[in-house]
Amino acid sequence: MKTAFLSSCFAALCILCAPAQAQLLADCGTGDTPPLVSEWLQKLDHAKWSADNTSNDTTWLAAQIFLVHAPTGAPAITLDSLKRTFAVLNRRFAPAKIQFYQAGMPRYIVNQIWSNPPDKQIATLMIDSFNLTRVVNIYFTNLGSQGLCGYAYYPNSGPGGPISRGAAMMSYSCSGPESGTLAHELGHFFSLPHPFQGTSGNPAGPTAERVTRNANETAPRLSANCQTTGDFFCDTKADPYSARWQCLSNPATFDINGDRFFADSSLIMSYAANTCRDIFSEQQMTAMQATVASGSAPRGYLLLRQRPITNEISSEAAPITPAIGATDVQPNFAHFNWTAVPGATFYHVRIKRAILPTLVKDTIVAGTFLSVYDNKMNINTDFQWSVTPHNENDFFIVKPIVWHNFRTGSRTATSVFENQNNDFIIYPNPAQAGSTLTILRDVEVALTVFIYDLQGKQVFRQVITAAEKMVTLPANLTAGTYLIRLQDSQGRNKTQKILLMP
Ligand SMILES: [Zn+2]
Repeated sequence: MKTAFLSSCFAALCILCAPAQAQLLADCGTGDTPPLVSEWLQKLDHAKWSADNTSNDTTWLAAQIFLVHAPTGAPAITLDSLKRTFAVLNRRFAPAKIQFYQAGMPRYIVNQIWSNPPDKQIATLMIDSFNLTRVVNIYFTNLGSQGLCGYAYYPNSGPGGPISRGAAMMSYSCSGPESGTLAHELGHFFSLPHPFQGTSGNPAGPTAERVTRNANETAPRLSANCQTTGDFFCDTKADPYSARWQCLSNPATFDINGDRFFADSSLIMSYAANTCRDIFSEQQMTAMQATVASGSAPRGYLLLRQRPITNEISSEAAPITPAIGATDVQPNFAHFNWTAVPGATFYHVRIKRAILPTLVKDTIVAGTFLSVYDNKMNINTDFQWSVTPHNENDFFIVKPIVWHNFRTGSRTATSVFENQNNDFIIYPNPAQAGSTLTILRDVEVALTVFIYDLQGKQVFRQVITAAEKMVTLPANLTAGTYLIRLQDSQGRNKTQKILLMP
């Protein structure tokens, strides 16, 4: 079942490609409801709950998106597709009076194993490491090795702490806006079973959910059992289909009374094809609301987080560098920056080729600049870039994209040191012997740091990794002027004066 998944790895790099398609035969990996959830659902008095809950207030819940990819890859979904996916999710949850906002900007997890976890135990380590408290944690990765479109954890089950328990795991291949998988998995996250639970194994058996909704059938017919088996909802039709089925081809299957099943293909929690499943039933919505109704509810901890008040974003980010129409932009060492926009807390940046428009960059950044030095841009080529400002409350709104033109030149930087516009910064300078110097560079590469006195005698040498930013000066250096030389792995150098104070 894993064959078609790998091809989706390239989707993020190609905006002309078809969006990631749900695999018709791929499964949801969420199993049957744990006993505690089953009991809770059977005790839920839907009529009373609905009567008590007459408020029209929407419950806003924070969702944290994690985008997992291998070190050499990229998330196999474009951010635009992700936004539309969440816009569809909010439309589907609107009748249940539940809506999602962003806990913060999407987070990237770069890890080879977690980019296609071989089993749930391995993925559990990721969830344990990254889950945030008081939010719905949603991980997007490749579940091809497990042959799954997605899975989620029912309340009070799965990894994570008491107020970060469980998660929804999504396969990129089933994550486009046309897929029902995200709403389906969050249905599980908010207590909903599959409608075929307990029925699909033996649809004509005595414990399977029966088609009839009559509680007082005449013998030998058996009466309705929808409250105590199946998904415990009586307003979802009995469903025997635990494999993907097409909306209209409802295979002829019969229950213990000889009644034919007519499962409801519009139910998001069913395994019907994506083209037909779109809704939650009234009782399913009641159960989801009850799951987050109060602090003592199964996922009441989600109410502990206050939705941030944000100002509406009413202006565009203006490009600063490269200027509109700029030419001779260094293809492998380009800096993009733009004006800050009131109300924005993060920015969606896209860079694409102007002809045969391939996205070479599609990312979220917190500040107002982005450095591109990963050789994704060709020389002497027309490109376009755009910046879309967002905040926690409007990430799911699809906004018009304003593209800005620029052109790359043929001059390519071969190291941090060859780019005239970009340097390294050492501070403090002046410094004192024995103090710690911070070395910031635009390109994070490993460096050897040498310090010489003005006679050319080497007084210090230390290798720092790409991630390291600090060196501590020897305490025995006398005051005066020194030269600090940084050398990269290919022997290229950059030298700067540093003054040591007494
Ligand atoms: Zn499922």
